[in-house]
Amino acid sequence: MLDKFANLNDENLNPMDEALLEEQLMNSLLEEEPPQAKLLHGKPVAEAIMSDNLSRTIRLSSRKCQPTLAVFRVGERPDDIYYENSIKRHCEQVGVRCQTMTLPTNIREDEFAAILTQAVQDHTIHGIFFFSPLPPNLDEARLRSLIPPAKDVDCLSDASQAALYLGQPGAFAPCTPAAVMEMLRFYQIPLEGKQAVVLGRSLVVGKPLSQLLLAANATVTVAHSKSENLSQVCWQADIVVAAVGKAHLVQGSWLRPGQTVIDVGMNPDPAHGGKMCGDVDFEAAQTMVQAITPAPGGVGLVTTAILCRQVIEAAERQAARNGRS
Ligand code: NAP
Repeated sequence: MLDKFANLNDENLNPMDEALLEEQLMNSLLEEEPPQAKLLHGKPVAEAIMSDNLSRTIRLSSRKCQPTLAVFRVGERPDDIYYENSIKRHCEQVGVRCQTMTLPTNIREDEFAAILTQAVQDHTIHGIFFFSPLPPNLDEARLRSLIPPAKDVDCLSDASQAALYLGQPGAFAPCTPAAVMEMLRFYQIPLEGKQAVVLGRSLVVGKPLSQLLLAANATVTVAHSKSENLSQVCWQADIVVAAVGKAHLVQGSWLRPGQTVIDVGMNPDPAHGGKMCGDVDFEAAQTMVQAITPAPGGVGLVTTAILCRQVIEAAERQAARNGRS
């Protein structure tokens, strides 16, 4: 477009022509659409994983093995029920058996422990998952620790977390950070040697994700609620992952061209009657950066497909062990 105005530097132009050309240039710049980022949708990523999941369960069925996930829910929290229904739907689509059990909020810790232990000892169950947080009357850390790494398909126990941090092969990563990594892999976003910023340091998302990025040879900065100059920290990164839980925290002015933004946040948007939104001001960000996930429609769609994949992986490993013994 600037070629059109190359003659602005023409020494033979009279001041009237020059003023006219300048005005035309300004008008063109104002009319031009701001650049739009590539949208990293979760749907094709989830579909690719689910298609692979199905092929793997078909292969396992020829070995008389049906991958099975045991899901425990304590109480009737609507977000747990919503996620449970999504898990059941995904499992059904790819031939994973999903056994769900709802427990009362006043269940005693030893009762829950006994139920979990039964699932641990059951050779037909390959993955175990429970929704958290548990009610305060239950010692969640103790209950998590009952799940052995081989069946801990969402990395709930300390042993699984330790294996992840020690970089031991075989430990299952928590599903949401694994979904972020899958999005980056699917869309071929280079990580090695790149600056990645993770906003949020929770045990479920931020911390394990920082380990996974580190394992992929990114240079990782983890920011949190006490971090200063968040805008500067974000601006310097090649990849910004927001996992904070604050609607529109990351503003357009914190971002720059060339960046990839992964928005893990899932928050009710006070400005739009509680409609769900991410941690990033999407409208502003998509005119700044190179690529961005929509939220909803991004990482969230991939998480449950990853959970199914990890159950299948657990079943494959058990089938391989059985084949050897
Ligand atoms: P969390 O446990 O509440 O952790 C939030 C983290 O963000 C904390 O580390 C906190 O810092 C940090 N933080 C809070 N306010 C901040 C601020 N103003 N500036 C910078 N950092 C700030 O949340 P979470 O479980 O990790 O979840 C984070 C978001 O991801 C939520 O929106 C959640 O709904 C979403 N999520 C999505 C999926 C999915 O599959 N898409 C799955 C899980 C979670 P401190 O440590 O200093 O308190």
